Amino acid sequence: MTYARRIDLRSDTVTQPDETMRVAMSSAQVGDDVLDHDPTMRRLEEETAARLGMDAALWVPSGTMGNVIAMVIHLRRGDRFLAPRAAHVLEAELGSSAWLAGGMPQPLEWTVGPGRINPEDVRAYATQSSPYYALTTRLLCLENTHNFAGGTVTPPDEHARLVSAAREAGLLVHLDGARLWNASVALGVPPAALTVGVDTVQVCLSKGLGAPVGSVVAGSRSFVKEARRVRKMLGGGVRQGGVLAAAGLLALERIDDLAADHANAALLAEGLAGLGWEVGRPETNIVIAAVPDVASTLTALERVGVLATAVPGGVRFVTHRDAPELDVAEALRRISAAQSPAPAA
Ligand SMILES: *Cc1c(COP(=O)(O)O)cnc(C)c1O
Repeated sequence: MTYARRIDLRSDTVTQPDETMRVAMSSAQVGDDVLDHDPTMRRLEEETAARLGMDAALWVPSGTMGNVIAMVIHLRRGDRFLAPRAAHVLEAELGSSAWLAGGMPQPLEWTVGPGRINPEDVRAYATQSSPYYALTTRLLCLENTHNFAGGTVTPPDEHARLVSAAREAGLLVHLDGARLWNASVALGVPPAALTVGVDTVQVCLSKGLGAPVGSVVAGSRSFVKEARRVRKMLGGGVRQGGVLAAAGLLALERIDDLAADHANAALLAEGLAGLGWEVGRPETNIVIAAVPDVASTLTALERVGVLATAVPGGVRFVTHRDAPELDVAEALRRISAAQSPAPAA
């Protein structure tokens, strides 16, 4: 059986700007953001900072740039930074924290649950009594939700304990909140409840919300002033950015819609489990299934027009607004049909 239409569950980054968003973009009020700030950019930055409970914010073209700007400002060359094992900053940003910010990464094990680390380990690395030639630990980089652990959520009390441990040990804290919106919706708490005590946070507008481009990095006013300089240094200053910020503003209004993605992930996981797959219960919009042969599973899925990606030992499906419940149900039907033996002629 071949299917004309593909159901793309590789990532929530495949969500596209719809007609409403394109209209908002085309009619955006613009200025020159490199010269003296674009008015729509300014509005997006102020609104995002307010939602995050931070003093100020800066639009950046990507989450990777938001993270590296924070790292460049927080770290001095050779400083150690701590992050949960398989954090995006460790695995999927081409080592920019080392290449550009000079950081020495120290992954922390997931002792609390998938993607979740423990304040004791933060303390242990931050306060190792050591000779003068030992590393200086400067920064804790958190990730909520944790992408490669399967979109797992760190709740506010656990977040607060990690931040206190870091603070007491004199560390700075950056939060990679590419999918902080998902954590907030899954927990039913405002995003600002998940940023308490951090120095800086990065959030994506281009994941699951339909914006074609854009992230925001937030912190103190003095951080953002410096971040604007580093963004320009990295080539991330844009001129009539209002066209892009207008998409971001609309994305912010759609955060509550992420609940539907979470429900669809649960549906997909239950369906796959019913078909005999080994799959964990998703906490947000990411479903990871353990499979014996990742490459052949992906090929078999692709043959029925269902796109997923590889993770170590498994395949990853990400639900999103452009693959609604009907698509998820259809994906399950196709997978089921492909698994069952062909009916006798
Ligand atoms: C996607 C992602 C990023 C990077 O965002 P880009 O816009 O792709 O550069 C950073 N951290 C996490 C956890 C992500 O999922």
